[in-house]
Order: sequence, then structure tokens, then C-alpha cells
Amino acid sequence: MAVRLDKTDVVVIGLGGAGGVAVEPLTAAGLDVVGLEAGTWLAPKDFAPDELRNNYRGWPQAAQKANREIPVHRPNAGAPDSPRALIHPMMNGVGGTTLHYWAQSWRLNPWDFRVVAETRRRYGAARVPAGSTVEDWPFGLDELESYYDKVEYALGVSGQAGNVNGTLDPRGNVFEGPRSRAYPMPPLRGTEFTDSMGEAARRLGWRPFPGPAAINSELYQNRSPCLYHGFCSRGGCHVSAKGSTAVSTIPRAQATGHLDVVTEAHVTRIDVDADGRAAGVQYLKNGETYVQPAGAVLLACYTYENSRVLLLSSSDAFPRGLANNRGQVGKHYMSHNQGGAVLALFPHKLNRWYGLPAQGVAVDEWADDNFDHAELDFIGGGNLWVYSDQRPIAAASMPTFGRAPRWGSEWKAFVMANADRWVNSYLQKTTLPYEDNYLDLHPTVKDPLGFPVCRVTADYKDNEKRVAVFAQDKMEQWFREAGAIATIRAPIGTMGVTTHAYGGTRMGDDPATNVVDRWGFAHEVPNLGVLGASVMGTSGARNPTLTAQALAWRTADRLAKNWKQIGT
Ligand SMILES: Cc1cc2nc3c(=O)[nH]c(=O)nc-3n(C[C@H](O)[C@H](O)[C@H](O)COP(=O)(O)OP(=O)(O)OC[C@H]3O[C@@H](n4cnc5c(N)ncnc54)[C@H](O)[C@@H]3O)c2cc1C
Ligand code: SF4
Repeated sequence: MAVRLDKTDVVVIGLGGAGGVAVEPLTAAGLDVVGLEAGTWLAPKDFAPDELRNNYRGWPQAAQKANREIPVHRPNAGAPDSPRALIHPMMNGVGGTTLHYWAQSWRLNPWDFRVVAETRRRYGAARVPAGSTVEDWPFGLDELESYYDKVEYALGVSGQAGNVNGTLDPRGNVFEGPRSRAYPMPPLRGTEFTDSMGEAARRLGWRPFPGPAAINSELYQNRSPCLYHGFCSRGGCHVSAKGSTAVSTIPRAQATGHLDVVTEAHVTRIDVDADGRAAGVQYLKNGETYVQPAGAVLLACYTYENSRVLLLSSSDAFPRGLANNRGQVGKHYMSHNQGGAVLALFPHKLNRWYGLPAQGVAVDEWADDNFDHAELDFIGGGNLWVYSDQRPIAAASMPTFGRAPRWGSEWKAFVMANADRWVNSYLQKTTLPYEDNYLDLHPTVKDPLGFPVCRVTADYKDNEKRVAVFAQDKMEQWFREAGAIATIRAPIGTMGVTTHAYGGTRMGDDPATNVVDRWGFAHEVPNLGVLGASVMGTSGARNPTLTAQALAWRTADRLAKNWKQIGT
């Protein structure tokens, strides 16, 4: 027998990167919010600088809900399932994956909002790749700017502005869209290695800049500046320098007295009333089923679970899944094209045993539409990123660049000599949505509760593969200019389960091709909002979280300001 709780104004499902931001504007407006979070609170002492535990055994996300329902991937509808991952990279905890993410905090560039219109204008309609379902966003960067700004100040983002109200500053990214003011903190400092990479980029005529990070470069909101000792590339920060929502927006929302955080609450479905509006949610906690009625529901469980919860919430009004009467839930899926890095070997030590992956230098010359594609056979591009982060096990797993065997005493001697002389790069590239890349429920694989897991049917297409080769060319050129004596290109792989997953509940004005409207509320269920990168229609060439958080703030703001019309 389910326990029926008192009605609240808003239920937020998942208190991670997106849901954890939304609770601040909701509670500041005086709405009563219940935050249902599958994980628990984690304290700074839970975050150990332990490479084996964090990066290989997947603590603390291992043995959690996410790992009991890892999505299954196949490259296309005719292919067998790929081998299933052992660990889900995402976190269950208050703060979600912002507890252990890298915290690179990018805005999208103006082009990313208008890929179709800009491609047609500059190169002709034929250059939009065949089979792509890409649409322009229902608004441009200018409409999201104030929300980016709110989130940068709410979390604490360190960075160097490149364009404040149209005035360009070459110390920052001159390709970024106009921002209304500078970052709240100066950028994280460089290292000898990242500074030398910056100089090499300048010799090539490029304009390198330090990337933005939700990590304090100085005391902020009474939280410590970063200590640069590293070992947090999949770990939390034990001095709370990382601006996860667990140490910023969520505690502030709690301080209003309007947020009730319920941990270890596994939401299994969203209920609807007789009019087809969201009535509340059902969740499991300690083996008991609870029904939490609410005036509005915000779904913020990360891309895979957002689609899955909707598809599992079928009813008479929505027989194919909630908000899915037009069959759009799960469509327009894409994962960021993060594979295909370039690795480089240098003839000298790089001193990368300290630092963190958000501490680095970027080049945006070859991203988005920042360069002329007229003679090229693709659209989009890649953001090039090199950073300071090396750990013993990862270092010893280095390739030998064809200079030594992969075993025995010669291999050991090579690794001893070169473990601090090689470096990886991070190339984030444009990915587009396609008709045959989608999410649905797996027909046979189930989680321990008996619910089907999410199935990912997706692969990179020609446009993405060409962008990858182009970005690798540029990265190799950059490393060689900096003095690298050997380079290796990693394969781009397939579009499997990832930390940068987009789509499934796309945002757009047309209900025939989009699940949520321009404010983030379901076209078919007006008091159901969806938060996260699942609403994004393009990926851009940079990490998603700040954009997902800006959109989450905007959706929450819309709900708070129009409560009488949207809430029930
Ligand atoms: C190692 C790593 C590095 C990363 N680095 C970066 C980076 O540098 N920059 C960047 O922009 N992004 C980065 N990301 C991606 C980033 O973490 C995500 O984009 C972001 O956390 C997504 O926010 P979200 O709220 O959608 O999901 P999450 O932050 O994962 O939050 C979802 C929350 O929902 C909860 N939940 C899930 N299902 C249910 C359910 N059924 N009931 C109740 N609760 C539920 C989860 O427990 C979780 O707390 C990284 C990710 C990883 C793993
Ligand atoms: S390097 Fe900085 S962000 Fe990472 S754990 Fe240390 S203080 Fe925190």
C-alpha cells in the first residue's frame, strides 16, 4: 500500500547539475519544493584523492542506482547490442554528477543556436547533412545570456571574458558571444606546460585562452580557492572549491525553508490527473512506495533517465509514455563527439602530476563556424583543449608511440622515462541529431526492479567523422609546434553511453518535432518541465552543463513567475 503524502507546490526529480540549480529560483520565489534525489548527501571527507577508487573502481557512483540500470548501446537498429559498460559515469548523490565532474563551464557560441539558418545563409541548404533532424533553437544566445550570467555567479565560475558587451579582449575567447559582464573570478592559473602550449598557439597565429571552470580561483562564497593538487578528475573536492550544486545553490535553497530534500528516493513514475496534467510522482524509499502530489513536476534525472522515466510513465492519456503522443520522446539523441583525441610525446618532462582537467588552455579558431567551410565537406568544428592532470595509473597506461614494445623490461624502462613526457588532449566537436539515432526502452534488459533499461541506438555519421579528422589535424599541428616528437590519433569510436548526452526531450516551438516548448515545459503536459541537456537540440563544441543549468534556471524562473497559470 503506497503512502500518500501532502501535496507540495513543485517536485524536482533529481538534485544534480540541473535540478540542483532550479531549486534556487523556485524557493527564492516562495514556492514549496520537494527535491527527490536517488542518492545521498556526501561530505567533503568522502572525497579522497585516490585514483584507483575514483577513476577505476568508480567510487562513489559504483554500486548505486545508475549502475543498476546502465543503458545498452547498439550502433544501429540492425546491429547487436554492444558490450555493456561496467560502470555508469554519472553520480547518484545530492549535487549529482557536478560532485565529481571536471567543472569546465562553457557557454554555447551564437552559431550553435542557429545552425540551420546560418548554414543555409553562408553555404546553402544542401550543406545541412542528409538525414539530420537538426532545427534551430527557438531563441538565440541573447535570450539565454542573463541566465548564463546568473548561474556563473550562483555557482562561482573562474574565467577570462573575451567579449563583454561587444568589446573584444584577446586574453579571453574572442569568438564567444557578447556577455553582460566579466566572470565572477579570474581564471585558474596556468602551468609551465599549458603556458608553453599557449605560446605555441600564438606562434601559429591562433588566439589561445584559459577555459572557464566552476572552480574557485580565489575565495568565493566563503569556499576555498583551488589548491591545484589534482586527483579530482573523477572525484569530488574535499575543500569545496568545485562549485557543485551540493555546496552552492542547494544549501541556499534549503536556507529559505522552502526546500525539502528527500534522499534515497527513487522515482519510478510521474502520475497524471483526469485532464492529462502532471499530478505528482511515485517513488521508492527503503522498500516503501510513496506518492507525492504536486502542482508542477520538474524532471531532472540526466538525459537517459529523463527519457526513460517518461516512457515508463504510460497511462490512458499517454499510452506510449508521458508527453509522447507524437512519438518524440527519445528522438534527436546525440552524444558529444568527445573521442578521437591526439596524444603527444615530448622530449622533456611536463610536470603534470598536479593540477586538474579544468586548468588548461583552449583554442576556438576551429570550432563551430569560426572558420570558412566553403571548401570543406562538413559543418561545425572542434574546441581544442590541453590541460594539467596526470595520475600514476593513467600515466603508466601510456602508449609507446612505436618506440618500445608493450611488455617486458624495455616497456618498463620506456614508461619510467616517459610517464611525465606524454600528454592527451580533449577535442570536443559538433555533433548533430539524426533520424536513426534515438533512445527507447530495451525490450529484454531490465533493472533489478523489473523496469526496462534505456537503449541507445546511435552512431557518428559522416559529418561527425570529418569534423573529428579535421580537429585532429589541427591538434597535431599545435602539439608539433610546441615541440612534440611523436603523436598518435585515437579512434573516434561509436556513440555509446556518455557523460555528454543530449536530446530525447528536445526543446522547440513545433510540437510535432519537439517534446518541450521554448520554456522547457512539455507541449502535451503544460505543468511538466524537463531540465538538463536532454532539451538541447545542438551540442556545440564544448561541455553541456552550464547551458543545461542556464536553461534550468530559466524554466524555474518561468514557473515561479507564472505559477497561477502553470501550477495546479
Ligand atoms: C567525470 C565527468 C566529468 C565531467 N566533466 C564535465 C565538465 O567539465 N563540464 C561539463 O559541462 N560537464 C561535465 N560532465 C557532465 C556533467 O556532469 C553533466 O552534464 C551534468 O552533471 C548533467 O546534469 P544533470 O542534472 O542532467 O544530471 P546529474 O548531474 O547526473 O544529476 C541527475 C540527478 O538525478 C538523480 N536521479 C536519477 N534518476 C533518478 C530517479 N529515478 N529518481 C530520483 N533521482 C534520480 C541522480 O541521482 C542525480 O543526482 C562530466 C561528467 C563526468 C562523469
Ligand atoms: S585540485 Fe582544486 S578542485 Fe581538485 S580537489 Fe584540489 S582543491 Fe578541489
